[in-house]
Formats: sequence, structure tokens, C-alpha cells
Amino acid sequence: MRCLECNKEITHLSNEHLNECCGLTLQEYAIRHHISLDLLVSESMVAAKDNSASFSLPSRQPDARAQSVMAALVLMDAFEQQQEFLVLNSEVRRLDQLLWYLRELQVYGFQYRQEYTYTDSSHRVIANNCIKTMRAYEHKFPDADLIADVELYTAVVVAQAGEIHSDYVFLSLPESKPVENFIEQLTQNYQIRWIRLNSYNKPDHVLYRTESLEDAQRLLQLVKTHLQEIPCASDRFFAQTANAVVSKELVFDSAHFITDHPGKCENLHGGRYNLNVKVGGRIDPLTGFVIDYGYLKSVVKQRVINRLDHQTLNFVCADLGWRSSTELLNIFIWEQLIDYLPGLQELQTYETTQSYCVYKGPSLEQIQKGELPDVLKHFSRPELGKSLLRKLLRSEQIKDLKVVSQ
Ligand SMILES: [Zn+2]
Repeated sequence: MRCLECNKEITHLSNEHLNECCGLTLQEYAIRHHISLDLLVSESMVAAKDNSASFSLPSRQPDARAQSVMAALVLMDAFEQQQEFLVLNSEVRRLDQLLWYLRELQVYGFQYRQEYTYTDSSHRVIANNCIKTMRAYEHKFPDADLIADVELYTAVVVAQAGEIHSDYVFLSLPESKPVENFIEQLTQNYQIRWIRLNSYNKPDHVLYRTESLEDAQRLLQLVKTHLQEIPCASDRFFAQTANAVVSKELVFDSAHFITDHPGKCENLHGGRYNLNVKVGGRIDPLTGFVIDYGYLKSVVKQRVINRLDHQTLNFVCADLGWRSSTELLNIFIWEQLIDYLPGLQELQTYETTQSYCVYKGPSLEQIQKGELPDVLKHFSRPELGKSLLRKLLRSEQIKDLKVVSQ
């Protein structure tokens, strides 16, 4: 066969050949030349067992730099245990970032692997890129809160666990005391404030979002030099890429009634609502997504659908108690989602195929400045019932009111 990179005739294509001729891995070669990986990987390479005898621990001690990178990975619980190995997995798009870790963590005995598996569910060969070391070397690892170099440590956390959406930085981190301390220190020492959100896609994790755009800027300023040094991280946080809008449709069944409405809708009745949630923003060069549809679905499902589906909308919250119109419903839904989806652009709620409402609410920044639509708030205002006119309800005349019945 002929190598499509160097044009030489070779007996078979291997990582060893590619390493010499172009520096690609087999998986990257397969992607670049749009060839199925199954054709490039021999049977003996699939599910091959790793050889622990090829690992060794350098005798030198980790310096402050290696310790900072390692402690950040320990904080994020980034390693997976596989038999006698500790493994840090990576997506192929971030291969250079993984190799940066390999260089920084050599003192802990790490080696790079591209491993191949075939499963009945995938029906094809899947490659996994990782660096791994022996569990026996774990005693050398620093504690999660050993922060020798704060800027480097923070940059590794942001590069590994961070995403940026509409200029807000999100960190998905394990729920743990060291993580809480880390977040608290960023607030105390660098005035970077955070909102703690539910993690809807990773169990035992917490989603931290920079409270404001200014907090995100302070964070990125703190770690900018190091993020530019960590391959792929600068793409994610600083590269200019195209914008797009994605939309997810979800359905829920609810009952409702419209108070004081001269028509059939005054009566309790049910229907199927179609909700379209549109989120816009920059396409993340590391994922190829504005936002993952699966993640978008799980946020909308847990923030909104689970609260509305098979419920009477009027009894979901005070705002809808009076009028559960699609207009007010959209305002309610917007307020449930905006903390998680700062790129939220538009909601469309269909009550029937012929009747629907389109709503574009305030941005997260406007909401933080108190610019909330107050159309919803009449029945939850503290001053409701406090007007002087309410005295009429308690006055003498009220005794003269008659109860009218048929
Ligand atoms: Zn070649």
C-alpha cells in the first residue's frame, strides 16, 4: 500500500511509520484521509494488553511546575483506574494538549498510548488517546491543594474542565472540599466570583459559572499566559470562530385555565405544548458545537419540562397562577434557563400548531442589572394588598354585602 502522506510504498501503515513521516497518529491519518480506522488497525492491535514492564519511574523529584500541573489534575479527579494503571483520557482534537501533559508529567512515569477497541455497540474500531502511569507510583502525586504556582494550576483547571459560552466561563468540577477551597480562593484573592449550578450531565459534579462577564475576564486575564502555552486551550478560549444558532424541541403535556377569560379557556383543559429552545453563540473549536444537543436537552428537561409536564400550569408558580398564557409561560421558562444557557436567544412555545408565542427575553447581563420583565410579578409583589383601598374590604359596608347565588 502507499502512504498518502509521504507517497512511499509500505507493507502496512503503522503509528511507527507515521511518526517518522508526518507525526500523525493512525486515528488522525484516518480522519484526514477519511478512511475507516478499521482498515488501518490490525487485529492484534485491537484490545491489546499494555505491558507494565515498559513503565518506570524517573529518580528525580517533581519540581513546582510538575506539582502544580499534577495537583490540578488530582483536584479534578481526572485519572481513571484501569487495572494497575492510572489513565488520563483525551479527545483526539486535544491530542497536543494531552502530549503537553505528557511532557509536564514525565517525572511521574507517564507514557502516551493510542488504544483501539471494537465493541458490538460501536460496530467499528474506536481509538482512545491517553497517557498512563502505574498506580504503584501514585504515592509521588501531590495533594489536590498543593498549589505551588496558582496561575499555572488555575490554567490547567480551566484548560481541562472549562468551557466558554457567551463570554461566561463554566467549570465542571467534582463536588469536594478541595474544589470548594479552590473556588473560594479565586474569589478571595482575585475577586473572581462564581455561581454554583447543578451539573446535569456529570454525576457527583458541580457546575461553576463566573458570576458576571467581568469575573470571566478577570479569570482569563489571570491564566491567559499559561492558557496560550497549553495547546488547544487558546483555541477554545481566544480563537475567533463562526457563530451559529442551535434549536432543540421538547414536548410537555399540561393542564391550565385562564382566569377571567370570556371563553372556553376559562375552564380547566389540557394540551400538548411544543417548546423550541434556541441557543446561539460561537462554535467551540474543540467540540464543533455551540452547545451539545444532548446537554441542551438535559438542561431544559430538568429545569423546565420536569416542572411542567403533567402539571396544572396555574399551580406551578404564583406568576402563572393568574394566567398561564404562552407569553407568561415563555417568561417563566426563560428565567429557569438563562443561568445555564447565557446564549439563550429565543423561545417558541406552541399551544397548538396554529397558536404559538415567540419570546426573546433579557440577557443574563441585563437580568443581573435588575432589568427583569415585571409583567409577571403582579401577584407576587409584597405591596399587593397593602393599598389604602384594601381598607374597604374591612370597612363597615362590607357587612352589608350579600352573597349572591343562583
Ligand atoms: Zn508516510
